[in-house]
Amino acid sequence: MAEPDLYSILNVTKNASASEIKKAYYKLAKEFHPDKNPEAGDKFKEISFAYEVLSNPEKKDIYDRHGLQGLKDGLGGGGSSSDLFEELFGGLFGGGGHGPFGRGFGFGGPRKPQRGEDMVHPLRVSLEDLYNGKTAKLQLSKKLICPKCQGQGGKAGAMQSCRTCGGRGIKVTMRQLGPGMVQQMQSVCPECRGEGEVINEKDRCKGCKGKKVIPESKILEVHVDKGMRDGQKIPFRGEGDQMPGVEPGDVIIILQQKENDVFQRRGNDLFMTHTIGITEALCGFQFMLKHLDGRELVVTSEPGKVIEPGSVKCIMEEGMPTYRNPFQKGNLHVKFDITFPPNKFADEKQLKQLEALLPARVDVKLPTGENVMEVDLMDYEPNQHGSHDRREAYDEDDDEDHMGAGPRVQCAHQ
Ligand SMILES: [Zn+2]
Ligand SMILES: [Zn+2]
Repeated sequence: MAEPDLYSILNVTKNASASEIKKAYYKLAKEFHPDKNPEAGDKFKEISFAYEVLSNPEKKDIYDRHGLQGLKDGLGGGGSSSDLFEELFGGLFGGGGHGPFGRGFGFGGPRKPQRGEDMVHPLRVSLEDLYNGKTAKLQLSKKLICPKCQGQGGKAGAMQSCRTCGGRGIKVTMRQLGPGMVQQMQSVCPECRGEGEVINEKDRCKGCKGKKVIPESKILEVHVDKGMRDGQKIPFRGEGDQMPGVEPGDVIIILQQKENDVFQRRGNDLFMTHTIGITEALCGFQFMLKHLDGRELVVTSEPGKVIEPGSVKCIMEEGMPTYRNPFQKGNLHVKFDITFPPNKFADEKQLKQLEALLPARVDVKLPTGENVMEVDLMDYEPNQHGSHDRREAYDEDDDEDHMGAGPRVQCAHQ
């Protein structure tokens, strides 16, 4: 079986010139850069390593003559190259490494991920929490390396290479398809469940029953800072499941903001709707607004300032605090809905008095003649109850006379 070939990793031949190697590297590095291709895993590291060796005449010479083993010996202890070498190719030479070629090339133990998966947890928070900041305690269950056996699964030496798969964690089955044609099929070894190692029942650690890890429930203190947003991620480095020989992944908390009854948020600005009466809209008003931190704002609109229906006014710096700069705040926008008085709220005399105060009517010239007809305005509310059944919508007042068939429009006689 062949060991990984640095030339094929870069897609070049053994006679490739330095500039061809460089070209090939730039092309692949672009394609497999983790920013662009996060699924490619270690591919980028392999490419970088292959280039590091083949672009260095001294290293290239060692590799050409002695292969990877020669490089490994040559690199010696320490240094970034040797660390990268261990990370990438350690599995090739046994000794518990987890190189990416461990399985594919049939060397060493089974392939294990180098870093565990991240665990994502949502955290529901209120807009008040995001305004004021808070510390939330989140309980989560994770796997911990068994403290009794330090993740060995048993006493030293109890762990044995699996005989069924020869320690590779995979079972290879050959199937003769025809003369000279063999299909090779790989599956996870049923004996060791892909671990490559087995342990006798009597030698198993009592703490973890030979599983190397134990379940643990842990409480994380999540600091929700002022100004954080819906969807913002709070990472806890290395708090994911532990596994022997694997760097644990992160726990990532994702904030989910609950709807607020009063405020909507857009960026650092807050939006709300406030309903006032016609008198307030025309004559000025004050109202009390309870803010997200419990302060009570008295909002004043001076007499004489007319508020139109649907108009939006702004209260400066009463929006959300800025993340990491909480003394700087967005603005609060208030949209005004205006309620009008009910029908017949005043008698004729009062209406005259009121009209005297209001702006003069628009003078309308009424036409005369045969073609002119006077008609009345009736109330018409097609979707009174949000119902799609027209009949139901108009059947509210039983004392009303509905005229004949056809769409029964309720007309109020006032
Ligand atoms: Zn096995
Ligand atoms: Zn144990």
